[in-house]
Amino acid sequence: MAESGLVAVLDYIRANHERFVSELSDLCAMESVSAWGRSLEQTAEAVGQSLERAGAKVSIVKTSGQPIVVGKAEGGSDRTIVFYDHYDVQPPDPLEQWTAPPFEPAVRDGCLFARGTADNKGNLMARVQAVEAWNRAGGGLPISVVFIVEGEEETGSPHLEEFTRENAAWLGRADGVIWEAGYRDVTGRPTVSLGVKGICYLELTARGASSDLHSSMATLVPNPAWRLTWALATIKDKDERILVEGFYDAVRDPTREDLALLETIPDNSAETASRLGLEGLLLRLTGHQANLRNFFQPTATICGLLSGYTGKGEKTVLPSTAMAKVDFRLVADQDPADIESKVRAHLARQGFDDIEVRAFAGERPARTDPKSPLVGVIRRAMSRVYEQEPVVYPTMTGSGPMPLFTDLGLPVAGFGVGHAGSRVHAPDENISLEDYRLGTELVAALLDGDSWAG
Ligand SMILES: [Zn+2]
Repeated sequence: MAESGLVAVLDYIRANHERFVSELSDLCAMESVSAWGRSLEQTAEAVGQSLERAGAKVSIVKTSGQPIVVGKAEGGSDRTIVFYDHYDVQPPDPLEQWTAPPFEPAVRDGCLFARGTADNKGNLMARVQAVEAWNRAGGGLPISVVFIVEGEEETGSPHLEEFTRENAAWLGRADGVIWEAGYRDVTGRPTVSLGVKGICYLELTARGASSDLHSSMATLVPNPAWRLTWALATIKDKDERILVEGFYDAVRDPTREDLALLETIPDNSAETASRLGLEGLLLRLTGHQANLRNFFQPTATICGLLSGYTGKGEKTVLPSTAMAKVDFRLVADQDPADIESKVRAHLARQGFDDIEVRAFAGERPARTDPKSPLVGVIRRAMSRVYEQEPVVYPTMTGSGPMPLFTDLGLPVAGFGVGHAGSRVHAPDENISLEDYRLGTELVAALLDGDSWAG
């Protein structure tokens, strides 16, 4: 019964492919850039309407920020899966690097180009349309689904916690959360990610004289650019070891399961290096060692430096300020507030307590156990739709509000309709139409009872 249901559902998805793509295009034409605060309420309304058409009960929940669209659709068993997605997108700049305007979706070479196709409107609509397919062609949903679609993911999800806290009681009873992002890797294999890294983002400022000076004054006047670079040099050594006292204290060692998972991840180090115009990766890492570091090690990155004169030709100036933006990508169980205070203490101990430290909102890391039943369900669904085994990553290397869900005891895993060339956050963002159809079929297979029966 369940199997024949899925067959009819997959047929429906294939038969409605063109309409599904055009619905996605309509959503991608909406300029819902959260950084601009534009079109967000209209986009939330449009998402709500799509969910209603798919057979979900919709409420648009107000927060102190942008509204959250919640869609609930009852299924035929007591299982519930939560889809976490977002209807906001990144700014499209630089516009001149787009082949066609970012909010005028266009199909070229089998791919749909527009801001938001891969991150995250394509995943959102694939999930909505899979629900529609079960309701129209499969005799109803085999399991219940809840959509939580926020409008501030690209600006750090500052108000999502209001929602998850208030709804923790029923949310915590779900069987798992499917995260917003995912893609097929360079070789075309589908991927699943079981976590996020955290982030601590700091701005460090050194100050000198009250104004820029003639550089001949350098005999007597301290230079904040030197001061800042000396301070930065105490944070990390040339072997890439982070020297902040206690920085690694909370780093969780990879488990036996984590290490076993790593063994199954292909070694793409040579392709990655050459694609980036490098002779090799950092520390000449390859294979297992590269993967181990990529997924299980935190980072300290100087994201930008600003001081003095950097224009054309020469200007002999002694700057009055120097500023650096520094981010730390954190792994389980590091905490951004703890890392911030350790960096402050470190700078003070090194004699740099004059350096001003400003912290931006941090995000915590999160991990889902690779042995979680949800991972098995996704593997089964993927092997039914794609003709190859997925690559399972222990974590994404980016960040997101996943801890709000894992704190409730929920397993969380991400997959989606992107590919290795989807250019997420960049000009010419795109997904392939074939991936879109397969990604929709995958969601349909995930909702089928047989995938949960293994
Ligand atoms: Zn994004």
